[in-house]
Amino acid sequence: MRTIQQLSGKENRCQDVEVFDETLHELIERLTRTLHATDGVGLSAPQIGVNKKVTVLDFQDGREPLELINPVLVRYFGEATEMEGCLSYRGIYGEVTRPEAIQVEAQDRNGDVFEITAESFEARAILHEMDHLVGVPFEKKLKNRVTEEQFDALEEDMN
Ligand SMILES: [Zn+2]
Repeated sequence: MRTIQQLSGKENRCQDVEVFDETLHELIERLTRTLHATDGVGLSAPQIGVNKKVTVLDFQDGREPLELINPVLVRYFGEATEMEGCLSYRGIYGEVTRPEAIQVEAQDRNGDVFEITAESFEARAILHEMDHLVGVPFEKKLKNRVTEEQFDALEEDMN
């Protein structure tokens, strides 16, 4: 298992995946295993040191993990501001404004193109991961930054 890299505000644009072979499948498996060892919902290849447009999300709702290769935002609607954290920015939390609903085109592990729609939390998680793939640091999108203690307190209020 690879450890998750801390990114500290510097991220690169990842390369498109062009070959859908065993090496890609191994990368996806490694990402999925590494994600499942955390309490996060998404993990992208650059977070384990691989500069490729590959991301895996698991919403822990019984569905198979969502694998997005070369994802592109096709359409988006609305706007919402919510708290976010990131496995590569430990201890940093804050509000990020993003579209409320999205349509994304991506390829699966075999290179077949598919489209998904998502809204609210799922849309936010997907967009967060897509930022990692194009080199937009999470830290730079934060508006009202809060401490981990404040974040935990807010989460408790919501539950
Ligand atoms: Zn992240």
